[in-house]
Amino acid sequence: MGNVLILAEHQDGKLKKTALELASKASELAGQIGGQAEAVLVGGGDEALANELAAYGVKKVYALGSGNLEKYNTLAYVKVLADLVKETQPEIFLAAASPVGRDCMPRLAGRLDTGIAADSVELKIDGGKLVATHPIYSGKALVDVTINGSPQVALIRPNSFGLGQAQSGATAELVKKDADTGELRAPMKELIKGASDKVDLTEAEIIVSGGRAMKSAANFEILQKLADVMGASVGASRAAVDSGYASHDMQIGQTGKVVNPKLYMAFGISGAIQHLAGMRTSKIIVAVNKDPEAPIFQKADYGIVADLFEVVPLLTEELKKALGE
Ligand SMILES: Cc1cc2nc3c(=O)[nH]c(=O)nc-3n(C[C@H](O)[C@H](O)[C@H](O)COP(=O)(O)OP(=O)(O)OC[C@H]3O[C@@H](n4cnc5c(N)ncnc54)[C@H](O)[C@@H]3O)c2cc1C
Repeated sequence: MGNVLILAEHQDGKLKKTALELASKASELAGQIGGQAEAVLVGGGDEALANELAAYGVKKVYALGSGNLEKYNTLAYVKVLADLVKETQPEIFLAAASPVGRDCMPRLAGRLDTGIAADSVELKIDGGKLVATHPIYSGKALVDVTINGSPQVALIRPNSFGLGQAQSGATAELVKKDADTGELRAPMKELIKGASDKVDLTEAEIIVSGGRAMKSAANFEILQKLADVMGASVGASRAAVDSGYASHDMQIGQTGKVVNPKLYMAFGISGAIQHLAGMRTSKIIVAVNKDPEAPIFQKADYGIVADLFEVVPLLTEELKKALGE
């Protein structure tokens, strides 16, 4: 019997959306190898978090607590996760390809003398083994990877799978453990939050995005005003980022973030394949573009052929009225 363990990231008492996405996938994979989905919450956790994971199929949750785990620390995470893996012997260990996952999981795989499939966009079981698919050559091709070591470790691009159906009332066994981080040669003294308190794009439910047509960083302000009215986050195409109109953490696409919001609004974005790779799974896509032949219209649920500099302020005013602000 092989269990599938996930690293369930959480912050300020809330699970990240990727944790629930991993839970859904882990439960599906565990069913195929005759095991169960389990999760680890580093830094501690309670029944509310465990039951939220249970709604997506997790049966057992390990909450690892210790003073050294309150802030993210690579060495501490690797030590306590390696100890947990040695104790619980999962067949597969999944984590999000997030800054935390990308930082600690390759090191953990090294510590455990196993392999890691990075940046996976699909996972399946074939002949009892995990097969992880990930893009190569800047997304021009996909390659299937299998791992000979144990556990089989894979990092998953956020929003690759979406969430399965939540089961209300499900509960998971919660195992609280005092984790020994050992002596930390590089302790984390302080964690300084970025200037923006906006929702991360990979977690956002509404995104308004601007492309090259925004023409300047100052013009992105009109998108920010629209986003404020709608409770949205602001994204950008690579052309906008490369032109210095938006910061790199706003880039959506193959070499940026993969997003899966309920509503994605693209302003002055042509819809190149590399941009679509990052937002095509959005539930509703709205595109505003001057060119009626722009490829984005083939993907959009609603399209407006117009100048964004006319549409954005109008939309902002109308939404303000509609929302009574
Ligand atoms: C290896 C590789 C990786 C890449 N990764 C990414 C990635 O992660 N993300 C990404 O986005 N791109 C990526 N790209 C770049 C991608 O191919 C496109 O060049 C880019 O997406 C184009 O950005 P854009 O749509 O903003 O600009 P453009 O293609 O220049 O489109 C601008 C659009 O704005 C419209 N427009 C102009 N003025 C107005 C106006 N006033 N009102 C309304 N519409 C107007 C035009 O009609 C046009 O359709 C990658 C490319 C490569 C080769």
